[in-house]
Amino acid sequence: MPGGETSGETYGAEFFRDWLTAAAGAVDREADRLTELDSAIGDADHGVNMKRGFAAVRTALEKEPPGTPGAVLVAAGRQLISTVGGASGPLYGTLLRRAGKALGDAERISRPTLAEALTAAVAAVAQLGGARPGDKTMLDALVPAAEALGTSFAAAREAAEAGALATVPLRARKGRASYLGERSIGHQDPGATSSALLFAALAETAESAEVAG
Ligand code: ADP
Ligand code: MG
Repeated sequence: MPGGETSGETYGAEFFRDWLTAAAGAVDREADRLTELDSAIGDADHGVNMKRGFAAVRTALEKEPPGTPGAVLVAAGRQLISTVGGASGPLYGTLLRRAGKALGDAERISRPTLAEALTAAVAAVAQLGGARPGDKTMLDALVPAAEALGTSFAAAREAAEAGALATVPLRARKGRASYLGERSIGHQDPGATSSALLFAALAETAESAEVAG
């Protein structure tokens, strides 16, 4: 079936480990770009932060692979919180931990269930950071992506990418970039860009799961 998984498909712990491993790879490949974006409107460490955090996630998941989707996300979130300096660590850590907690101890998860869990987790990120869509933060990618995941993995990837691109003309109202005021306009937000990488990795992982049958 082109463009989507069979409805009723479910995903186990291995899928979630594969997702975060793919995310770690993407963050690693794009780290220089993330840092470059952060050098324009921040302190030039977002790529370094994300690379360190996701390398720790990958190592933790390899060393002691958690047995359920929820446990994978909680373990990953914990690694991000403890290894990433900077605003993005607690925010991404909260995203994954909250999503993992929402999934409970279910062995397998459907895409709509993951969409609900991520929507709740994104709300927790908004609460922690006090930001809303339009503030030029990761939420500009996360909010539309979590919602579009209710439709398909591909729609979530596209929504995240569009959300990241849409941060360019915005003036930052949260985080370090907000110190620049007007001068933050015209640059893509680093955190929204890394959020798009996470959803691209999710869509890729879903596509390979389909091919593998
Ligand atoms: P720091 O800003 O501490 O150097 P990073 O460079 O790793 O941390 O991450 C910067 C990104 O974090 C920003 O591009 C933005 O997307 C996100 N961010 C910063 N503050 C907030 C906030 N209050 N709410 C949501 N996202 C935020
Ligand atoms: Mg920074």
